[in-house]
Amino acid sequence: MRTTIVRCATCGNRNRVPAAGPGRPRCGACHSFLPWIVDAADDDFREVAESAKPPVLVDMWATWCAPCRMVSPALEELATERAGAVKLVKVDVDRAPKLSERFDIRAVPTLLILDRGETIARQAGAVPISVLRRWFDSAIERTTVAAPDEPADADRASS
Ligand SMILES: [Zn+2]
Repeated sequence: MRTTIVRCATCGNRNRVPAAGPGRPRCGACHSFLPWIVDAADDDFREVAESAKPPVLVDMWATWCAPCRMVSPALEELATERAGAVKLVKVDVDRAPKLSERFDIRAVPTLLILDRGETIARQAGAVPISVLRRWFDSAIERTTVAAPDEPADADRASS
């Protein structure tokens, strides 16, 4: 399993976070939720994105796309603000032809929100973080209602 080192914003502890797994990653020292940001492609999307417990924000981007380079830091900021409530999965469309076809990607960036593999929201084009935040939060409200079995949602990070 691929892992990344994520520094806890609350206590500074360095944590090893797996690309996929049950639950939501938390800091080993202070138990704060950690941002979960993972790259995926055709071969590992199912494991990384569709088996995730928190809703997944998919960033379909391309290396040659200038607007993608503007929206990417905003998405990472959002994933950090909403740590525990979202997993950010970044897909380079040129390395993921099957996913591009499956999600009918006609422009990059295209952002998708998946709730256990099902697309619940979609946004094409780069938008400012204030718009992303509203779009994400209104989509997520619908998933919380649909998933009352998750006690972790009661103490999820909010701002
Ligand atoms: Zn910590």
